[in-house]
Amino acid sequence: MGTLGVLMTFPMLPYLEEELAKRFNLFRLWQSPTTKQEFLRQNSHSIRAVVTSSRVGAGSDMIEGLPKLEIVSTFSVGFDSIDLRKCRERGIRVTNTPDVLTDDVADLAIGLILSTLRRICVLDRYVRSGFWKTGHSELASKFSGKSVGIVGLGRIGSAIAKRAEAFSCPISYFSRSEKPNSKYKYYPSIIELAANSQVLVIACSLTEETRHIVNREVIEALGPKGVLVNIGRGPIVDEPELVSALLEGRLGGAGLDVFDNEPEPPKQLFGLDNVVLLPHIGSETHETCKVMADLVIRNLEAHVLNKPLLTPVV
Ligand code: NAP
Repeated sequence: MGTLGVLMTFPMLPYLEEELAKRFNLFRLWQSPTTKQEFLRQNSHSIRAVVTSSRVGAGSDMIEGLPKLEIVSTFSVGFDSIDLRKCRERGIRVTNTPDVLTDDVADLAIGLILSTLRRICVLDRYVRSGFWKTGHSELASKFSGKSVGIVGLGRIGSAIAKRAEAFSCPISYFSRSEKPNSKYKYYPSIIELAANSQVLVIACSLTEETRHIVNREVIEALGPKGVLVNIGRGPIVDEPELVSALLEGRLGGAGLDVFDNEPEPPKQLFGLDNVVLLPHIGSETHETCKVMADLVIRNLEAHVLNKPLLTPVV
């Protein structure tokens, strides 16, 4: 396997880096002594695989600059930052890490709902600042029994629904088609879903169709008591509209793991107590990252051995 030149685009996980280095001829893009473009140019004929993640992806420039590229293996389930069209044109295979991270992302969605409604982060700051002795905290909002709307009833969306059911929440969803075996209520319009939900959770993939699917009208439909949770991708939400709705009190609150311009979420949100902000860590647990790394490696090994890929996208 040592002959497969593998480009790692940034340091995702030490374990993954070590295991890749044991098996393949590993190129670390972030350690390039020259510019990244120059590094790619110098090694373009040795690199046959790219290991990346949703943060960096594999755009058309990178793919065009690697004439020997055979496979892109992403350390993520989302592949919105990989130029799939170009990969298909060139016959480059693409793999991702579905299923193994579903539980973690769904757990985090519930964590964001609870911390936003029950003001967990605000009250943690309240205790640390010593305010408990003198002040009174405002009442929070109950989660159990609230209506939960899910945008995208896929692997993660379904796992969130299952968890929310345990909180006695009525569940409904929006996606491109009604799921014939689902017991949840289907809305063919995201605005209708938002109008009938107290908590709206974004769990769909980012595509040209879903970009800004959560727009001003959807936010207005969710309303001043509604809470938006986004564990999908930042650009699914029209972020300037979200920020102004929160600043003007037209939306009740938001729990956000993803943003338009990561790692720079809108600073206007920093002073708001009804907002919980996380640095895109949906799948980031020791347990899950190890399994994701193993899946990346097993896909590359299968490719080298000319065996079927475990989790192919293309
Ligand atoms: P999945 O099983 O493929 O589910 C994707 C869902 O998106 C499907 O239910 C699909 O429903 C829906 N969808 C696609 N296009 C749509 C459209 N135009 N309108 C409405 N719904 C649409 O993927 P998954 O494993 O659940 O992952 C979902 C996403 O979560 C990933 O793509 C990724 O962006 C995000 N994610 C985030 C983190 C994090 O760290 N925050 C971690 C992992 C994943 P239909 O096919 O029925 O339309």
